[in-house]
Order: sequence, then structure tokens, then C-alpha cells
Amino acid sequence: AVKQDPRDTIFAKIVEGSIPCKKVYEDDDCLAFDDISPQAPVHVLLIPKHPIGGINDATEEHATVLGKLMTKVPKIAKLKDIDHSGYRLVVNEGIHGQQSVRWLHIHILGGRQLNWPPC
Ligand code: 5GP
Repeated sequence: AVKQDPRDTIFAKIVEGSIPCKKVYEDDDCLAFDDISPQAPVHVLLIPKHPIGGINDATEEHATVLGKLMTKVPKIAKLKDIDHSGYRLVVNEGIHGQQSVRWLHIHILGGRQLNWPPC
């Protein structure tokens, strides 16, 4: 199967600003915005501005930007007031992971009790 180019996805358009989003946080390397179809009271998508299709495409060259991405999680949790109650990070990959947008994103879910394992 031919893999989709992340630059052809809706998140590419969100990064370039041609499609709007409810921005939660932004800096030179990453963007965080509310999910359009929230699965919890807080559901934020945190993405690198650099196009990476999914975690399966991550290489050594992405180490810095991916590291930076993770360090923004507590900041976003605090902005959304879920830093004390807790939250969950999810990265879906490929078919079994039910990834629907081929631009790497971290789901940040919180604001309610989250069950484990997910079914
Ligand atoms: P995935 O299923 O790939 O892990 O997650 C993709 C997420 O992107 C889904 O939760 C979906 O609701 C969200 N999403 C898809 N299109 C848009 C959009 O245009 N705007 C926003 N804010 N979220 C979107």
C-alpha cells in the first residue's frame, strides 16, 4: 500500500492556517488544538509543525522535535486544568491503531475517569 503524504492531510492545512482550529498552545515547533470530535471533556491534539506521518515514521532526525513535543504536555495539561486530576496520552498508528489522519499527533484526554484497557 502507498503511504499517504502527511502534507496532504487536514492537519497540514491547520498548521499552515488555511483551516481554522481552536488553538490551545503554539510555538515554533508545535501546535495544540481542541479535537473537533472530543472523546472526553478535554481532548486536545498536540502535533509537530514538521510533517511526520506517524510514530512509525519517526527517525533520529525527529528526536529533538519529538522531545520538545512531550515537554509541552504538562504545559497544555495546566492550561486545560487537568494537571492535578490526570489525563491520558494516546498515539494511534496505522490500521490496527485506527489512525485516521496521517500526520503524527498526540491525543491528550482528560476531564473524566478514563477506563483501561481501551476497547
Ligand atoms: P486519529 O484517529 O488519527 O488518531 O485522530 C485524528 C483525530 O483528529 C480525531 O480524533 C478527529 O476527531 C480529529 N480531527 C479530524 N479532523 C479534524 C479537524 O478538521 N479539526 C480538528 N480540530 N480535529 C480533527
